[in-house]
Amino acid sequence: MRVTPAAGLRKLPYLGHPPSAQSYCIRAFGDVNDNSLTQFDDLGLAEPILRALQTEGYTTPTPIQEGIIPTMVQGGDVVGIAQTGTGKTAAFVLPLLQRISKSKSKLHSKSCRYLVLAPTRELAAQIDKQVRAYGRFLKLKTTIVVGGVKPGPQIRALKPGVDIVIATPGRLEDHLSTGAVGLDQVETVVLDEADQMLDLGFLPAIRRLMAKLPKDRQTVLLSATMPKQIRKLANDFLTDPCEVSVAPAAKPIDRIDQHMMLVASADKRTALLETVGVSDVDRAIVFTRTKRGADRVCQHLLKAGHKAAAIHGNRSQGQRERALADFKKGRIKVLVATDIAARGIDIDDISHVINYELPNVPEAYVHRIGRTARAGKSGIAVSFCDPAERKQLRDIERLIGRSLLSDEDRKALEAASVPPTPQRKKRVRVQVKPWHGRGDGSRKPKRASRKSTARKSSTKRNPQKHRNASSRRDRVPA
Ligand code: AMP
Repeated sequence: MRVTPAAGLRKLPYLGHPPSAQSYCIRAFGDVNDNSLTQFDDLGLAEPILRALQTEGYTTPTPIQEGIIPTMVQGGDVVGIAQTGTGKTAAFVLPLLQRISKSKSKLHSKSCRYLVLAPTRELAAQIDKQVRAYGRFLKLKTTIVVGGVKPGPQIRALKPGVDIVIATPGRLEDHLSTGAVGLDQVETVVLDEADQMLDLGFLPAIRRLMAKLPKDRQTVLLSATMPKQIRKLANDFLTDPCEVSVAPAAKPIDRIDQHMMLVASADKRTALLETVGVSDVDRAIVFTRTKRGADRVCQHLLKAGHKAAAIHGNRSQGQRERALADFKKGRIKVLVATDIAARGIDIDDISHVINYELPNVPEAYVHRIGRTARAGKSGIAVSFCDPAERKQLRDIERLIGRSLLSDEDRKALEAASVPPTPQRKKRVRVQVKPWHGRGDGSRKPKRASRKSTARKSSTKRNPQKHRNASSRRDRVPA
């Protein structure tokens, strides 16, 4: 597939992939606040789309939109990297709508033309909302295919054929297995939050889905972060891709004021109440590493009188939707979340992102704090770092290319003793001889398990311990 560089964009020598993968790369620099000279009209978008953008109040395209829209409209594969909250969704949705506005061919039953894959139901719902907003003046059939809700309405929506399916991989695979939809008519597939979609958790499903798509499709990958090994892996799915990069991968936007605080785990609850209690916190997301942690932190906030709700993978779809809606409407001030809400979720005026715990994956930090300072606004990110999270901090600093601690705190962190890791018990190696039978047709005796053999050998070494253990066992009622 030949891609010609879009008019008005700087064409730079290709930098990052194997030479065979592509010959050049388009790079646009700036962010959502930059005054672009390009107007939406210059991008050749159809009148009903321009009218919808006007209704949304968008005057000029953001740099990522300026970079991606012309390339995508021409049909080339694209890798788009731009900071969080800089208009990536419209960047891939508008070209799809443009193609739909020009298309005269009929939809096939139980098929779709454009497939958008997202990692979470919430993100899929948000993309769907934007598709409907930008496509409001077009004749458009779009549907969302996600888990956690009844499949019936989705099956009925897919039956006559749709222009755009926005899906999470699991539920889409369910519909494919029952024949509710086929992917052989797909012209473009978009992987939003592509690095997460190509990470271990999703990769097998993505490979299965990609194998079902036509070979001559257009593939578009978008994210704010793109680790090198994932970018390499992405080449398996791309043909002569054009890379549009608005900021160095993983650089959080400068309008986010980042604070890293050294707080011992035992003091984090108090620190959280102090942070949430200050007057300039209008709306905050608190990120925890685990689902149980999110529930515990939420309970703590509720007890202290704050309006809070938790959102994570163990909550029902209804609970998740209610929590998000309450947060958006301002009925609750603090949303406590796992990384399920770290990507893509676009809620206006989140003043603070609080990392109660640092994420294990450094990219998640960039996505988490990207929930604030969206669409040109500014925001504050506060992170609590226990000395035991030193490694996570180092990984984050390496990724974003800057130090987050003051010199004083850095010294304090170095001085703080990390609790010694408990000494691992010496493993007892037990050789289990293969059983070749007794040759007399008698039943094979049960082979000693590693555990029981280990117990026996430890008994030899420590008969007193064994006596205690067996007498303890004897005391247990049957
Ligand atoms: P996204 O990065 O796609 O989540 O978009 C972040 C925010 O930017 C959303 O609230 C969009 O509505 C908004 N946005 C997208 N494109 C534009 C634009 N061209 N002008 C102004 N705001 C925009």
